[in-house]
Amino acid sequence: SLSDRLSATFKNLRGKGRLTEADVDGTVREIRRALLDADVAVSVAREFAAKVKERALGAEVSEALNPAQQVVKIVNEELQSILGGQTRRLNYAKVGPTIIMLAGLQGAGKTTLAGKLAKSLASEGHTPLLVAADLQRPNAVTQLKVVGERAGVPVYAPHPGVQSDFDELTGDPVVVARNGVSEARQKQHDVVIVDTAGRLGVDAELMKQARDIRDAIRPNEILFVIDAMIGQDAVNTALAFDEGVDFTGVVLSKLDGDARGGAALSVASVTGKPIMFASTGENVNDFEVFHPDRMAGRILDMGDVLTLIEQAEKTWDKGEAERMAQKFADQEDFTLEDFLAQMQQIKKMGSLKKMLTMMPGANVSKQQLEQFDDRQADRIEAIVRSMTKHERVAPKIINGSRRARIARGSGVSVSEVNQLLERFTEAQKMMKKLAAGGGIPGVPSARG
Ligand code: GDP
Ligand code: MG
Repeated sequence: SLSDRLSATFKNLRGKGRLTEADVDGTVREIRRALLDADVAVSVAREFAAKVKERALGAEVSEALNPAQQVVKIVNEELQSILGGQTRRLNYAKVGPTIIMLAGLQGAGKTTLAGKLAKSLASEGHTPLLVAADLQRPNAVTQLKVVGERAGVPVYAPHPGVQSDFDELTGDPVVVARNGVSEARQKQHDVVIVDTAGRLGVDAELMKQARDIRDAIRPNEILFVIDAMIGQDAVNTALAFDEGVDFTGVVLSKLDGDARGGAALSVASVTGKPIMFASTGENVNDFEVFHPDRMAGRILDMGDVLTLIEQAEKTWDKGEAERMAQKFADQEDFTLEDFLAQMQQIKKMGSLKKMLTMMPGANVSKQQLEQFDDRQADRIEAIVRSMTKHERVAPKIINGSRRARIARGSGVSVSEVNQLLERFTEAQKMMKKLAAGGGIPGVPSARG
């Protein structure tokens, strides 16, 4: 899969000090191939890979990130920029009801989405009305009524005997849509959501119907709903609807399945239209505002890594890193104060485990990794804080009675204090080794 391939690619990059052009070429080839595997359109994948290559080769050296992380960051940023950069919110009408029309193939998830969107808007204080303008399938009107009931939102549906334009399969959806909007205006609903019919494949008649509805009601938003599982067909379907109704936004549905992110990338890339919402299940609450950044993470399947990169960049304390690097360079003693400062720095950056696995050349064993967890970092902090300044810089003086006092002060057992001191001694040794070997990888050298 895409994420597997990219992960493998990035794993290969880990541990390298610098990116060569050959590295970048290899990585980019893998990325393109992976995107193609994930049903991203050929042209989209090619363009994407070219952009990543250009940026990776010209990338400024980052102090907070190693080269592999930098490539991940670039891939992520490019994904986000294609996916729309920022989340686009709904455009509301200045006067009268905001008209939202749904379009898309049959089974895409329009009717389900209508309910979800209505419920979400209602929870924000809007007063939506749902309009059943899908007269294609005998069940469609009933389905929207059920959906509306679940959402707690009224449905305008033509009733036999009440509304003369209703005759399943022969009624005119354009008339229903127009009447629905009038009803919304009359009853002062501030939003009206018009559900429309779809076909299994794109066809001219369907598109004309959708266009006729559009021209009759002049929507503020035309949302194109597309099944995220659709694969390569995403491009053609999206292009057809874009040309047919000139939609204003995209809704990706069925993102709860194991859809690869490919469709999102293709649709956004070939139409240039923003993806606005995500549908993530059959339930009326399975609905989200679409976040380009999260989708990029999903496509890469590297959400944790991306979060870590963000945090590393945000919280890396340059001064502290340099002070530490200087200490290693000077072969000064690594004290408990340093140990504590390091813990705090690492805690700021998120999970210690993740950070250690991402440090190229850190060479941490699996067993060592399992020994670390963030709660332990908190305990260590408490223990070190219970020590006197003198004890922190000269841990050798910490005898039995001092240990007992420290344990009492920090609310832990004496054996935990003992463990900490042992771990500290280990860390001290490791730091000496690292200093001899040129410092911690990823930590900028104080000497330039
Ligand atoms: P429409 O023909 O475009 O109106 O599509 P429907 O709303 O009737 O949905 C078609 C089918 O897909 C129904 O069985 C829905 O329950 C299902 N469905 C819709 N949206 C989602 C979703 O986000 N996730 C999942 N798992 N199923 C969905
Ligand atoms: Mg429907």
